[in-house]
Amino acid sequence: MRTENVDVAVVGGGPAGLAAASAASEAGAESVLLIERGERLGGILNQCIHDGFGTKMLGEALTGPEYAQIFIDRLSDAGVISNLDTMVLDLNSDRELTICNEDGIRRVKAGAVVICTGCRERTRGAIRIPGSRPAGVYTAGVVQEYMNMRNILVGRKAVILGSGDIGLIMARRLTLEGVKVECVAEILPHPSGLARNIVQCLDDFDIPLHLSTTVVEIHGTDHLRGITLAQIGPKGGVVRGTKRFIECDTLLLSVGLIPENELAKKAGIELSPVTAGPIVDDQFQTSVPGMFCGGNALQVHDLVDYASMESQKAGQSAAIFAGSGRLPAPSIPVQPGSGIRYVVPQALSGEEAVDFSMRVFNPEEDRYVVFRRDGRVVRRMKQTELDPAAMIRIRVRADRFKDGEGPLTVEVTD
Ligand SMILES: Cc1cc2nc3c(=O)[nH]c(=O)nc-3n(C[C@H](O)[C@H](O)[C@H](O)COP(=O)(O)OP(=O)(O)OC[C@H]3O[C@@H](n4cnc5c(N)ncnc54)[C@H](O)[C@@H]3O)c2cc1C
Repeated sequence: MRTENVDVAVVGGGPAGLAAASAASEAGAESVLLIERGERLGGILNQCIHDGFGTKMLGEALTGPEYAQIFIDRLSDAGVISNLDTMVLDLNSDRELTICNEDGIRRVKAGAVVICTGCRERTRGAIRIPGSRPAGVYTAGVVQEYMNMRNILVGRKAVILGSGDIGLIMARRLTLEGVKVECVAEILPHPSGLARNIVQCLDDFDIPLHLSTTVVEIHGTDHLRGITLAQIGPKGGVVRGTKRFIECDTLLLSVGLIPENELAKKAGIELSPVTAGPIVDDQFQTSVPGMFCGGNALQVHDLVDYASMESQKAGQSAAIFAGSGRLPAPSIPVQPGSGIRYVVPQALSGEEAVDFSMRVFNPEEDRYVVFRRDGRVVRRMKQTELDPAAMIRIRVRADRFKDGEGPLTVEVTD
């Protein structure tokens, strides 16, 4: 098998991979190879024809394909080589990738690797809905691809399970295509998507949202005939007397994304049990030297802009590693405290300002996110609204936290 050498290899040609590859090239990496298993660059954005992409980074609300095109143009300006229809099958801790396309299998030895493999959707099997197995049960991404890229309508009457942003956006999209969306059901007592999407995708179209409610049975033999909904009590059980049948030919599951990290696992990279993505430092370097990660493979993002920003940093770091090999060493651990579900990055060098991303456990109002080191408040930021669905981003200057002995902690307080 032939082996080719590159400075930086980027796995995945979605917005994260596009940003990482051009940043690596701009930061001085001489040969940058971007590998994408799909037939075009842009990742999930190709099927997201609604607008709302780029508001933070570009100051305008673009559609997914428009946003992706800006980064595709930057990539060709930067002279990055992209291999499409090419799958990375294996990655080892020596930064060797095994790659497959119609020409066969080859090996690439990289000076540094950036993993930008995105997410996959949770399926019916992952949430174990009982009942028969008829046609008509889809994940949101599959319906989005059918409708927006192949012009295929999957049904006429739909129920959506899951009120995350993808489920909400699909409720509006299906309605605009003439499908009757009976309702969106959400097992949690609060919506999982952003408040603006509840208004723009459900309220504006009179689509009911049933909280603390889930699908407890699927009916139909060849094709879906309907589903049974039921209310879920505070202890997680079905509330007696609340089961009701809803006739529909489509059940759309929007029940979460899982970072796609099979390659990271093969390379021996340590993953966070909370984010399911690699544990990284402020250079976006993982536990294996020379391996970096960004985008949805690192943590599920609600805004693509942040996926692009952190991946740019990952790409720059990869170029430095592949060149001199010298990156600031992480010496300060970061720990989530009360009210914080996770915080990324999980370790800091103390040499530069850091943009932290985090999510909270519960919806709350008028609280503070507080960073502390050795009991000393390093940064305190008021949050009028804390929403588990919305990623929080806070920048902290290095001079605020670099001195001290213990970890940097982040918590929600009064
Ligand atoms: C329905 C939906 C609506 C959204 N709406 C918005 C919005 O309105 N505004 C907003 O800002 N954000 C939105 N987002 C979020 C945004 O799209 C994501 O944050 C972003 O796409 C993540 O980029 P990524 O590159 O990490 O992942 P992806 O876009 O998923 O790209 C990952 C790429 O890696 C490739 N890949 C994976 N494994 C391999 C392998 N082994 N070999 C080769 N290639 C591989 C995949 O084929 C894919 O192209 C939405 C997302 C979805 C799903």
